[in-house]
Amino acid sequence: MYTIQNAINGELKQSNSSRSQNIFNPATGEAIGTLPLSSREELDSAVAAAKAAATDWGNTPPLKRAKFMFKFKQLLDEHADDIAREISREHGKTHDDALGEVARGIEVVDFACGMPSMLKGEFSRNVGPSIDTIADRQPLGVVAGITPFNFPAMVPLWMYPVAIACGNTFVLKPSERDPSAVMFIYELFKKAGFPDGVLNVVHGDKECVDAILEHPDIKAVSFVGSTPIAEYVYSTGTKHGKRVQALGGAKNHMVVMPDADIKKAADALMGAGYGSAGERCMAISVAVPVGDKTADALVAELKPRIESLKIGPSTDSDADMGPVVTKDAQQRILGYMDKGVEEGAELVVDGRGFSLQGYEDGYFVGGALFDKVTTDMSIYKDEIFGPVLSVVRAQSYHEAVDMINVHEYGNGTAIFTRDGDTARDFCDRIEVGMVGVNVPIPVPVAYHSFGGWKRSLFGDHDIYGAEGVRFYTRLKTITQRWPDGIKDGAVFTFPS
Ligand code: NAD
Repeated sequence: MYTIQNAINGELKQSNSSRSQNIFNPATGEAIGTLPLSSREELDSAVAAAKAAATDWGNTPPLKRAKFMFKFKQLLDEHADDIAREISREHGKTHDDALGEVARGIEVVDFACGMPSMLKGEFSRNVGPSIDTIADRQPLGVVAGITPFNFPAMVPLWMYPVAIACGNTFVLKPSERDPSAVMFIYELFKKAGFPDGVLNVVHGDKECVDAILEHPDIKAVSFVGSTPIAEYVYSTGTKHGKRVQALGGAKNHMVVMPDADIKKAADALMGAGYGSAGERCMAISVAVPVGDKTADALVAELKPRIESLKIGPSTDSDADMGPVVTKDAQQRILGYMDKGVEEGAELVVDGRGFSLQGYEDGYFVGGALFDKVTTDMSIYKDEIFGPVLSVVRAQSYHEAVDMINVHEYGNGTAIFTRDGDTARDFCDRIEVGMVGVNVPIPVPVAYHSFGGWKRSLFGDHDIYGAEGVRFYTRLKTITQRWPDGIKDGAVFTFPS
């Protein structure tokens, strides 16, 4: 059993909290570590360290800040395999999937390395006679991040490299279920030479989150997690005068048009629905074939693929997916499979009753496929966050679009078609933040920005990319005049 420590002002510190919780290996169900549920005082000391470092760091030339970031990126590249192992041990995802997560996180560090050019600002000469305007983006000071379990390395990397390269200092509260990847990466961050206090990590639960949301010295909060907590973080944080971007849950639909290549659409749905055991906010959990003929063909293609999914521990290099993260998650997902049957959906592939020899206590769930799901069923409405794909049959393209547009979530969506006009119309009309055309998981690259619509994001700014820079900086617009005629006396009329 290992014990996770906090990182405050450049030092690893054992928490003195009386509260803690266990960390489990999802493949075996064994407790492998403990994590402190830090107190408000511990969070306060991390904020104090970040505040003490903020002025010097904010005044450090952007190019010098970027040099630390280049070193950090190099260390991340060198240790990608180790980080992936840390992720898989506590999260359960396959090693290859974890490596993919690390790669996407490093891409944001790549982006942050180019921050000097993002911070160049704007300049307009002669906005009036001898008057110039400079628009400058300045750091906020201390900012914080609260992150979910499903991408324990990547989601924190969506936040602090951008915030720190912009000149802020950071307090991170990672997921309590899989904190080791964050701590491994923290060591690399320190090795890259960043000054003490620039990045601080405090582990905890609601008490710690509330302390972040209420702390007067924290100017902005980035949150990624489930929708009820995102909404709570947004309303509480903004009530306390902070900038908040709170990314929430999802129910992503993929429309399959009659002209689509059905085999390719089925392959895409396998990766998007069952990769990472469905524990991705951009996972496709609803397939919407248009027309019964398309639906019958799609279900016929999916069934054998799902039945032959290889499920195993992260150490099995042949596994397509691993266990889900906790016993609670396993029970919740199995409960939804029961509910789908009770509600009258057709269970084409049953994921219940799956057990892996030698891993009987692991949190494994088999892949499930429901057909003839209707929009009033809870398996359609709720985010299940597991390897369960629902097929909702639409009789027309317009019915498919309307269905997606009235769903409370609007994170990602995709359409599979060969028709450019349909694809273009879909991109115009769909009320979802990230749209794929023949791309099932349209996660924007690091130099664009990530964010959903409706109840998938609270706040105005998407995360990382240019939107991230806007979120972590505030605009100062300077209008200046250095007239040679000031000696001639003041002007009292408004210039016309
Ligand atoms: P979660 O909401 O349970 O936890 C996220 C964070 O909030 C954690 O750090 C946790 O400690 C904290 N938290 C939990 N309960 C809290 C409470 N009552 N008060 C204050 N803080 C609390 O989410 P999770 O289960 O870790 O992650 C899965 C969810 O995250 C899914 O809904 C998924 O869709 C979503 N997600 C969204 C995105 C996105 O970009 N939109 C990305 C990844 C995950």
